[in-house]
Amino acid sequence: MTATFDHGGGVRSLRVPIPDNPLGFTLVYVVDTDRGPVLVDTGWDDPASMDALVDGLTACDTAVSEVHGVVITHHHPDHHGLSGKVREVSGAWVAMHAADASIVRRARETRAERWYTYMAAKLAAAGAPEEHLAPLRSARRRTLPGLSPALPDREIVPGELLELPGRRLRAIWTPGHTPGHVCLHLEEEHPAGLPGHGRLFSGDHLLPEISPHIGLYEDPDDTTVTDPLGDYLDSLERVGRLAPAEVLPAHQHPFTDAPSRVRELLTHHEMRLTGLLTLLATPLTPWQLAERMEWNRPWERIPYGSRTIAVSEAESHLRRLVKLGRAEAVAGSDPVTYVAA
Ligand SMILES: [Zn+2]
Ligand SMILES: [Zn+2]
Repeated sequence: MTATFDHGGGVRSLRVPIPDNPLGFTLVYVVDTDRGPVLVDTGWDDPASMDALVDGLTACDTAVSEVHGVVITHHHPDHHGLSGKVREVSGAWVAMHAADASIVRRARETRAERWYTYMAAKLAAAGAPEEHLAPLRSARRRTLPGLSPALPDREIVPGELLELPGRRLRAIWTPGHTPGHVCLHLEEEHPAGLPGHGRLFSGDHLLPEISPHIGLYEDPDDTTVTDPLGDYLDSLERVGRLAPAEVLPAHQHPFTDAPSRVRELLTHHEMRLTGLLTLLATPLTPWQLAERMEWNRPWERIPYGSRTIAVSEAESHLRRLVKLGRAEAVAGSDPVTYVAA
């Protein structure tokens, strides 16, 4: 039986497992409305995960067929994976921020081959060694997983209340982890009277014990130089100022005192940026920087796919340092190297 939890005030959660992932599960929230339950995120698209969602909703005295709407914090497959199946069974609407909706649209339209070519070129430019690029070059005919996510049918507009009959749920745009990540602020008073302003469904933006991955916003059709880490840090301050009584994240467990968690994360990133500047005393490619950064295990033990993610994270930190004038690209270097300014 799926573990469910009653958070009070017409909000429950259930754990939808993520196969082969150390995070373990996505917390899917069930918000009662006058028109039926509305889900915040749906979970990974896998038969066992769907079974867990079905079981969990039954334990909440409802059913997938009763779902009125689906609110998605961001497009990642552990959040949006089952949205299409839920909509098929229930006829529910699916809502997402426009920036993530366009990623979904692009993923559906882009052929796998184009992605591999794009990623191989990007990684080569970041200084990835040939043995890392070879699998990308030879994998072109395989299809990518998660390439047919459901197109949302409603847009989540920052600052506006969602159409949830009988509830006050406001969208807070929190770009960084993805360009269209949103937190959802349930403005009603906390059911147990905890001090603060309502409750915040925080998706992956604000988690109690881990800091979310901040990479580059990958888009083969867009060459805009974005600053996802800068976006993330700004978004953190935005939710800190909301001072919700309780945070209901998409992984791990609910927690209170959002402002102090925000301060911890801001300090963590400031220390990390300062640490990188020490490494950048000598010019390094993003790949070389990633090799020297601190991860949850030594670089030699980081698997192939995670190295790609790590390099993307190194690049988002470099973008931030360059934008702050604390590092610069070395003129004429190829692949490009960066050095502390
Ligand atoms: Zn995510
Ligand atoms: Zn997630």
